[in-house]
Amino acid sequence: MHLSGRRVTRSSQILQVQSIKTEKPPDASSETPASKLGRKVKNLTRADDTAKPENKITVKKENPEDSGSKTKRVHSSIQYETDNKLPVIEIKQEIDEEQFEKELKWEPTFWHEQLVNIREMRKAKDAPVDSMGCDQLGDGEASPQEFRYQILLSLMLSSQTKDQVTAAAMYRLREHGCSVSNILKTKDDKLGRLIHPVGFWNKKVQYIKRTTQILQDKYNSDIPDTVKTLCELPGVGPKMAHLVMRSAWGQLTGIGVDTHVHRISNRLGWVKTKQPEQTQKALEDWLPREYWEEVNHLLVGFGQQTCLPVNPKCQQCLNVNICPSANIVSRRKKIKTEK
Ligand code: SF4
Repeated sequence: MHLSGRRVTRSSQILQVQSIKTEKPPDASSETPASKLGRKVKNLTRADDTAKPENKITVKKENPEDSGSKTKRVHSSIQYETDNKLPVIEIKQEIDEEQFEKELKWEPTFWHEQLVNIREMRKAKDAPVDSMGCDQLGDGEASPQEFRYQILLSLMLSSQTKDQVTAAAMYRLREHGCSVSNILKTKDDKLGRLIHPVGFWNKKVQYIKRTTQILQDKYNSDIPDTVKTLCELPGVGPKMAHLVMRSAWGQLTGIGVDTHVHRISNRLGWVKTKQPEQTQKALEDWLPREYWEEVNHLLVGFGQQTCLPVNPKCQQCLNVNICPSANIVSRRKKIKTEK
């Protein structure tokens, strides 16, 4: 994946090795970070003859900051030798591959500035998701089990549906009695009338009924507590499962990527993906975990108010000067008119 961005390097030893001139590998795509490092070291046989150390010098290093952690330990061994004419340098370095990968992790250039700006634009917390998001739609007075069930249903209703419509359907369901036993007793056409006009409401009636039956039979009328088992329920995908884990069980298992998060992440240059599932994976690859919890809510509201699907309000956006997609719609319109 080629995106503009910077590589993060934290170890001075890594920086030292990176500064050495290397040749291009025959097939760079097949290399692992460790084999890249090995190639860099192997290619280094002759050094600048101005260095000319007199005798053999051996330098051994162990990164003191990292000692004590098996996965972070880095050893270096550097030798300088003369062969009467030119000095020969040999560097041996053992490095933990996982750590090396982390050291060279890619991240978008302005992601932090962009995120801080979005926080600022969202500080009023007045987007539909702030008052009508699925995490708000469970009845706080209900039993924990029933509350979790309501969170699951609200997320099932929310796909392809505006927050306002989902919230209205959930209020009608709660008034009707939104428990596993009561929904199983409710006839399909009645359930359809209660949730209409959410997107694909007739299909969702079937999903809700089948899921609710499984909850009663297999989970003692509660909801499953892992992403894997949640995804086994009809009509529940990974995005929904991560959000259920967060809102119903209070566990952070991954970034919930819906259409807003997918669109905005691509516009900001945080990812370059076609599908929300790819966006989730790509974001989790570089976004530090401490930001995972807020990013869904933040971007959904930002997508509802400013970075709209059609005609984003770039002129009101604090990211206008650091967003690769700024004014893209008006630029496209201008090009069309000129043609
Ligand atoms: S500048 Fe425009 S496209 Fe970029 S984040 Fe802001 S609203 Fe979205």
